[in-house]
Amino acid sequence: MTAQLVDGKAFAVQLRSRVAGHVAWLKEEHRITPGLAVVLVGDDPASEVYVRNKGRQTIEAGMKGVEHKLPAETSQADLLALIEQLNSDPEIHGILIQLPLPKHLNADLVINAIDPAKDVDGFHILNVGLLGTGQNAMVPCTPLGCLMMLRGHLGDLSGLEAVVVGRSNIVGKPMAQLLLRDSCTVTIAHSHTRDLASICRRADILVAAVGRPEMIPGDWIKPGATVIDVGINRIARDGKQQLVGDVDFSSAVEVAGAITPVPGGVGPMTIACLLANSITACCRVHGLPAPE
Ligand code: NDP
Repeated sequence: MTAQLVDGKAFAVQLRSRVAGHVAWLKEEHRITPGLAVVLVGDDPASEVYVRNKGRQTIEAGMKGVEHKLPAETSQADLLALIEQLNSDPEIHGILIQLPLPKHLNADLVINAIDPAKDVDGFHILNVGLLGTGQNAMVPCTPLGCLMMLRGHLGDLSGLEAVVVGRSNIVGKPMAQLLLRDSCTVTIAHSHTRDLASICRRADILVAAVGRPEMIPGDWIKPGATVIDVGINRIARDGKQQLVGDVDFSSAVEVAGAITPVPGGVGPMTIACLLANSITACCRVHGLPAPE
């Protein structure tokens, strides 16, 4: 058996086109241009690529995109002052602070300084609480994209056994909350989990968000399961740099029913969900219907 590919690029194209349609409607009918501000502190090369891609796709969707690039030695006070300025700017509906921040900055404090209504990454403590209590939260982009692909691929998720490997605040925990909200039976595994292989083997939905190249082999996967590989790991193979996931794709593809490739799976949906969250934030503040 060879698994069906869950094509994140195709899902992202569809979502971006829905976003662009909503932006056009906001501009034409309400004279509102949704605005997203992205803040990058320091010169981490991977973060620079992400920020560039986010900026490009924001503009392509017809939105206003603002980029703030600050030097690595920026003080906490200066960063907080910028956030305050963006919080009170009526043309900015979404604020994203690119993580990781340099070590001298307190990421929790910085994120919690963002107006929760503009927190398009969904990392503010208020949005975390809203998601955990099943209320109208701003949902973190990566797990939101995973959920959209799972729903698109499987339809109703209720009653399915879901295993999320990884418990970070950015991916693992919100992913588990979303699956629970969709009535899956959810297990969260992490580095202290005993017998990870047998836990993975019971999953109808297996989400890998670990950050360890090809850690999950095909024989940990239940035949026919849907596998979402969030991992993005850069490795050297055959003298070349290569991106691989947390799942060993070549063995997993023989067992799973469906699997996201790396690259081209979860990654493209993350940015598309950021745009969608920005439109949602804009619509909410203006009391207008947000896209479905
Ligand atoms: P973190 O490092 O914050 O979390 C990793 C999690 O994996 C931790 O909970 C850790 O457990 C767990 N873990 C580590 N080793 C093991 C192990 N041997 N067995 C079981 N669990 C283990 O990573 P993130 O959640 O931020 O990211 C995970 C991956 O997803 C990375 O590759 C990252 O690059 C990628 N990513 C991709 C995105 C995309 O858009 N596609 C967006 C965000 C992340 P413990 O808590 O016990 O330490």
